[in-house]
Amino acid sequence: MRTVPGRTEHVVVVGAGLSGLSAALHLAGRGLRVTVVERGSHPGGRVGRADVSGYHIDTGPTVLTMPDIIDETFAAVGDLTAERLDLMPVEPAYRASFADGSSLDVHSDATAMAAEIERFAGRAEAEGYLRMRDWLTRLYRLEFDGFIAANFESPLSLLTPQLAKLAAIGGFRRWEPMVRRFITDERLLRVFTFQALYVGVPPKRALAAYAVIAYMDTVSGVYFPRGGMRALPDALAAAATDAGVEFHYNARVSELERSGSRVTAVRTEAGERFTADAVILTTELPDTYRLLGRTPRRAVRLRPAPSAVVAHIGCRAASPADAASHHTILFGDEWDRTFDEIIDQGRTMVDPSLLVTRPTAGDPALAPDGRDLLYVLAPAPNTAVGGLDWDARRDDYTADMLDTVTRRMPHLGADPEILHVVTPQDWARQGMIAGTPFALSHTFGQTGPLRPGNTVRGIDNAVLAGSSTVPGVGIPTAIVSGRLAADRITGVVSPARQQIVTR
Ligand SMILES: Cc1cc2nc3c(=O)[nH]c(=O)nc-3n(C[C@H](O)[C@H](O)[C@H](O)COP(=O)(O)OP(=O)(O)OC[C@H]3O[C@@H](n4cnc5c(N)ncnc54)[C@H](O)[C@@H]3O)c2cc1C
Repeated sequence: MRTVPGRTEHVVVVGAGLSGLSAALHLAGRGLRVTVVERGSHPGGRVGRADVSGYHIDTGPTVLTMPDIIDETFAAVGDLTAERLDLMPVEPAYRASFADGSSLDVHSDATAMAAEIERFAGRAEAEGYLRMRDWLTRLYRLEFDGFIAANFESPLSLLTPQLAKLAAIGGFRRWEPMVRRFITDERLLRVFTFQALYVGVPPKRALAAYAVIAYMDTVSGVYFPRGGMRALPDALAAAATDAGVEFHYNARVSELERSGSRVTAVRTEAGERFTADAVILTTELPDTYRLLGRTPRRAVRLRPAPSAVVAHIGCRAASPADAASHHTILFGDEWDRTFDEIIDQGRTMVDPSLLVTRPTAGDPALAPDGRDLLYVLAPAPNTAVGGLDWDARRDDYTADMLDTVTRRMPHLGADPEILHVVTPQDWARQGMIAGTPFALSHTFGQTGPLRPGNTVRGIDNAVLAGSSTVPGVGIPTAIVSGRLAADRITGVVSPARQQIVTR
């Protein structure tokens, strides 16, 4: 594996999002001096926060999966997740609610899920589910070490025996037809393919290899940290500080000083200067290229992922008997058309499917007494395909979202107060490419070694991390990308050796 040549004793990490924090922890655990420079006033990046009228709002991710990756990150400095974070299992992981009035609880436990599917759609579907679960698990085991958590030098490095195994179990067929081999109920089909939206490709067209996301969502378990999602970056940053990492907040990096093929220092807008033996950049891709003074050589234009509108709503607390589950997916009647509208046509959904999260189900302290906090996410076109005037539409669209929620979940949403709304135009104002917080889509041409890589041609000691590089978008993947960036600096370090370094 190609690593940064020469001196690497002091690494400056730009950005204290999950990828930057993960890189900092792995490097500190390997005995390097690390400085993190972050433009915001706190860690987390897209794991955003807003405190409004006594509500503690998480503005970014809500579905936390793959806690073992978080464990590995704390373990990098000899720490334990349990000592830093109260990570509670979310059970059921989701409630899937359908337009025909039926609903299904998604359990990560195989027996509980098979029983729920048998109740919902009969024994044959439950048996098909167990076979599909086995397929998803094999897919995950084949992909994780070989493709997701690996640094690639070139597309040729994909040509391994694992690739042949992946092909043999259908990884290069299409996602939806593969799932149809196991289950036939159209509603169930949605539960195990809606994640294609994260890939930015309709399930009928997405590669079956991406069904690994359904593994993460429905098999590995969903978790929620007490204090909200923000507790995760806070805990990672605290562990890093205790391991000797230096943090500088409110410090926007505006320039990289260079000497030949090496970056020698990082400069901020306010004039601070941090000398560096190596740098890790977790900035948004266009900013990264600007800082590095290069234009990527790609034959094909980069394709941004679809975006989302997120409305944060305070309402009267549901009675315990009525309380909705933590995450509910309200599926509309329309399906194929919904993907077309968001991804290809650049229009809002005519018949919306929404993610409704009630973080107060996990931690009531996130809202004032007697109140619930709702997070309603509507997938939406990014600003590259949809030239929608969100500033003009925001209020009406939010009212429509709230109307869908209260119609479909009548026990929620009484006495509502709209606390905070974020639209694609707002994500664009925050500097996000094409107004999407989900970076580049995971089309085939933007996956693995075909995605913008984490090394930079012609600059020896700059490494990239974060959702626009490998492996991609999401909490687990951003955390893995930090580890991959650290590996580019030190080489791969086995967990056993890392323990020795830190003690
Ligand atoms: C609304 C929303 C919902 C999501 N839902 C989920 C979900 O349910 N599950 C899931 O797994 N993932 C979800 N995600 C995706 C996940 O949150 C991201 O993929 C991940 O947090 C990205 O981490 P990152 O480190 O790559 O980037 P970022 O979090 O963007 O970190 C980059 C950091 O760099 C800083 N920075 C940028 N430029 C500069 C500069 N010039 N100088 C100094 N600092 C700079 C930024 O302030 C930021 O802190 C969601 C994201 C959003 C926004």
